[in-house]
Amino acid sequence: MFTKELAIPPRPLVALIAFITLVALTVLSWLGWRLLEQDRLLESQQVQQRVERAADLVVAALQRALALDGQRLAAGNPRWPDGAVSFVFRDGTMTAYPSVRVAYLPMVRPLREPPAAAFSSGEELEFRRGDHAEALRVFEGLAQSSDAAIRAGALLRSARNLQALGRFGDALARYQRLAEIDGISLEGVPVELAAIYARCRLLEAQRQTTALRVEAQRLDTQLRTGQWALTGPIYWLYSADAARWSGEQNRHSEGEVFAEAIDNLWQKRGSLPSSGQASLSVQGQPVAALWQSSGDSFRGLIAGQRFVESQWLAAAAPVLQQQDVTVTLGARATGDAPSATRRTMDTALPWDVWVGSSSASAQSSAFAQRRRLLVAGFFVLVFMVLLASYLIFRAVSRELAVARLKSEFVAAVSHEFRTPLTAMRQFTDRLREHPDLGDDVRRVCYDAQSRATERLTRLVESLLDFGRMEAGARKYRLAPHDCSGFVQRVVDDFRGEMQTSGYEIRSNGNGSALIEADDEALSRALWNLLDNAVKYSPDDRTIEVGQHRQGQTVAISVRDHGIGIPVSERSAIFSRFHRGEEARTRGIKGTGIGLSIAEQIVRAHHGRLQVESEPGQGSTFTIILPAKD
Ligand code: ADP
Repeated sequence: MFTKELAIPPRPLVALIAFITLVALTVLSWLGWRLLEQDRLLESQQVQQRVERAADLVVAALQRALALDGQRLAAGNPRWPDGAVSFVFRDGTMTAYPSVRVAYLPMVRPLREPPAAAFSSGEELEFRRGDHAEALRVFEGLAQSSDAAIRAGALLRSARNLQALGRFGDALARYQRLAEIDGISLEGVPVELAAIYARCRLLEAQRQTTALRVEAQRLDTQLRTGQWALTGPIYWLYSADAARWSGEQNRHSEGEVFAEAIDNLWQKRGSLPSSGQASLSVQGQPVAALWQSSGDSFRGLIAGQRFVESQWLAAAAPVLQQQDVTVTLGARATGDAPSATRRTMDTALPWDVWVGSSSASAQSSAFAQRRRLLVAGFFVLVFMVLLASYLIFRAVSRELAVARLKSEFVAAVSHEFRTPLTAMRQFTDRLREHPDLGDDVRRVCYDAQSRATERLTRLVESLLDFGRMEAGARKYRLAPHDCSGFVQRVVDDFRGEMQTSGYEIRSNGNGSALIEADDEALSRALWNLLDNAVKYSPDDRTIEVGQHRQGQTVAISVRDHGIGIPVSERSAIFSRFHRGEEARTRGIKGTGIGLSIAEQIVRAHHGRLQVESEPGQGSTFTIILPAKD
């Protein structure tokens, strides 16, 4: 393995990588943004198309529903669901269906009135002579009449005279009886209304507030629910007092709204087309009106909000649901969601129809999901770009580191070669230039030449071995060896080489053990450790080599008292080409492959190489091998 060291690439290269990354990210972001924009545009176009389609369907459904009710109106249908009322004007009179849903009508069929002459004698007594008792007697007699009209007129007058006589209880009772007579009017006012109203007036005069309130509420309810066929002026006259007495002034009445709507139509009938539909605003409330006229008959349907929702909009409900849209009639739909409008003049419907996309439509959520995917994909791409940039940066850094290490290695190897070569040259020159040298000096020269040659050979062998290991082509020929013998032999060889260096190599050990080893390879591993021990111990020149049996293993240790290895470097020193900081600063020669070779060899022997060290105190490298005996 190469060392994990990285080299920071030169600034322009870092800037280039950063620039390319930035450009890639910018282009990616821009494309992503464009894609999202287009997606949004596509969504709004599709939603708009859906809404437009839905608007046509909604309009068609509403037109069908209104046409159906138009047919019912023409057929004279008297029953309408809640919230609507129809009216028919024919033969000079107007009728509402159901009549209880309108408070009043523009005109009503007059009821039967009692003949005024029937009461002239009693009124003579009452008004001319002021004889209320006598007048009462006359009217009481008439109140027994079998003619309901006469009975009604008589009861009203009886009550009036009883009031004048101070017999209020009796007067109230007469009014009560009067209220039970049906189909008669007195001076254009239905008797029941006249009776209840008179009771209220009496109760008011008597200051009977509780009773008055109850009575007035009854009057008010009956008025508003179209109990009597009244015209507008009469209705408003009585209604104003009823509201005042009952204290229900601000009440909302559908009957009044419908009545006013009918009144509006009736007023404008001359200028209206023979049939049509319109939306009216009555008392601040929207109502829809359909009308048809032929000859002197005029009929119409007034539909309130409730009816529109429960009947007409209900007909469009399946479309709304199917198309995921909402509909608003008349007023513009709120919000800025896509919407479509269909104007009254194009549809002939009473209102403008606004159709909007419901915010939670399936289509929107599908688009939202797609956009989420797009955004997620975008982030994945951004991550990939960043990762790729980081990997490129790392790869470049590594390449640079390797290049640096290699050049350092070449320089180091050259240096390693130079020392023995220089020695050889010096001694060779000396021998050549001084043929008269004595035998002793010649021997020294030859020994030195031999050591230099050996050193060179070892160096070359070591490099070749390293090359083979790198290529995975190093073959090991394992054979049994006596460990102590083996160690002793290597130490002796090393001692021989170190003779003149002043280093003392001590060896000790306990017991012998059998190991399986490739003699040449394991010798090289141990030699490298010894060589390092010497190289990195410039001051204390004692090296201890030990060989100990520990159970099933044998430990061969090389201990020095040199510069030691800091903790931070302890694992890195086994990487190839790695050289310690101190080794460099002190200028100690080396190639950085010695420990790497030693470790690989030991591993090939099924063992391991350990290091213990204390900076400034020395290091102990230990080869641990399995014992074979
Ligand atoms: P080289 O000795 O050629 O630099 P090695 O692979 O043999 O390469 O050693 C790697 C590094 O480990 C050395 O550069 C040195 O820093 C450190 N080292 C190895 N042996 C020792 C030792 N006995 N004492 C101190 N440092 C050592």
